[in-house]
Amino acid sequence: MTISLGMPQVPSGRGGTGSAVRPGDVGPMLADRYGRVATDLRLSVTDKCNLRCTYCMPAEGLDWLRNDQVLRDEEVVRLVRIAVEHLGIRELRLTGGEPLIRPGLVDIVAAVRLNHPQLPISLTTNGLGLDRKAGQLRDAGLTRINVSMDSLHPDTFAQLTRRPLLDRVLRGIEEADRVGLRPIKINAVLIRGVNDLEATALLDWSLRHGFELRFIEQMPLDADRAWSRDQMITAAQIRSLLEQEFMLSPDPRQRDGAPADRWEVRRRSEPGAVLGTLGIIASVTEPFCADCRRTRVTAEGSVRSCLFSHEETDLRNLLRSGASDTEIADRWREAMWSKPEGHGMDSARAGDAGFVQPERTMSAICG
Ligand code: SAM
Ligand code: SF4
Repeated sequence: MTISLGMPQVPSGRGGTGSAVRPGDVGPMLADRYGRVATDLRLSVTDKCNLRCTYCMPAEGLDWLRNDQVLRDEEVVRLVRIAVEHLGIRELRLTGGEPLIRPGLVDIVAAVRLNHPQLPISLTTNGLGLDRKAGQLRDAGLTRINVSMDSLHPDTFAQLTRRPLLDRVLRGIEEADRVGLRPIKINAVLIRGVNDLEATALLDWSLRHGFELRFIEQMPLDADRAWSRDQMITAAQIRSLLEQEFMLSPDPRQRDGAPADRWEVRRRSEPGAVLGTLGIIASVTEPFCADCRRTRVTAEGSVRSCLFSHEETDLRNLLRSGASDTEIADRWREAMWSKPEGHGMDSARAGDAGFVQPERTMSAICG
C-alpha cells in the first residue's frame, strides 16, 4: 500500500506543548509538534566500525552491541516496509557504524528493493571493502553512495582515522564509480591544524572525478569530548578557504529539505564554466532544524527523532513480541511527535545551558 502524501495541517497551537493535538491527528505521517514531517529515514545497520575517526570514535572503539541486540535482516526490512507503507517515508539511507561490515547488507538492500521498486536507497560508508561490494550493491538495487574521506594524504588520513588505509578507500571509490553507483558524494570533516588546508585540494580532486564534495561541520558528537566551538572550522571559514581558488554561487535548485547548502563551483582562472556542485552541511553554525525531514533508527532498533536527542524509543521489543505493523507505526509516530524544535547548538556553547552533548557518539546514533 502506498499512501499519498500532502503536508499535514497542524492545527493552531503548533509547537505548543500544551496543544491538544496528538501524534496521528495530523495524518498517518511522522509529524511533530512544530509542523515538520519526516520523509527521510536514516537507518543504522551496525554500530561497529573498522576506522577510529578522531571526531567520532575513541581509539579503543566502543562497547559494541551483542549480535542479538542488533536488528536482524528481516527486522530491518520490515521496519523499512512499515516506514514506507504506513508512515510516508520516501527515501532511505543506510548507515552505521560502518555499514559495509554488516554481513547481510547486500541481502537487506535486495529485499528492500523488492518491496519498494521506486524507493531511493543510499549508503554512507567509509569505503573500506567497497571495491569488493560495489557491484553487488548496485545489482541488489542500491541507488547511490556517499563515501567519507577527509584527506588525500596517506599520513593525514591515518592521523584522522587512526588507520593507514587511504589506498583502500580510494580503490573503493574507484570501483563504485566504475560500476555506476553515481552520483558519488564525498563527505569530509575539516579539523583545524590537521586537514583544513586541504579544503581546496579535496574540492579540486572531487571536481576532476565528477564527484560531489560535501563538507560537514564538525559536531560535538565525538567520544573524546574534544569538540570546541572555537576550534571547529565553520561553514563561513570553509567558503573563504575555498574562495582563494574557486568562485562559489548558490545553487539555484530548491534545497527541498536537504541538509547540505549547495553551491555551484567555478575556478577563478576559468570563471565561465560551472565545474560541479559543492555541498556544505552547517549543522552547527547555520542549522536547518526548522526544515529537518529526518527520522533515525539505531542498529538496535531505537528511534531517535534528532541526532542530538537525549531520548530513544525502542521498536525492537515490539518487533520481537508479535506487535502488528500498526502498533509499531503508532509507536514510531509518538517518538517523532516529541522531536525537539532545534538542537540548541547555534545559540549556546556546548556545555552551557541550551545544549547538552548526547551521551552516545556519532557512530552509535546513526550518522
Ligand atoms: N562509517 C560511515 C562513514 O564514515 O561514512 C557511516 C557512519 S558515519 C557516523 C557518517 C558520517 O558522519 C561520516 O561522513 C562522518 O564523517 C560523519 N561524522 C562522524 N562524526 C562526526 C562529527 N563529530 N561531526 C560531523 N560529522 C561527523
Ligand atoms: Fe567509523 Fe564512520 Fe565514525 Fe569514522 S565516521 S569512526 S568511519 S563510523
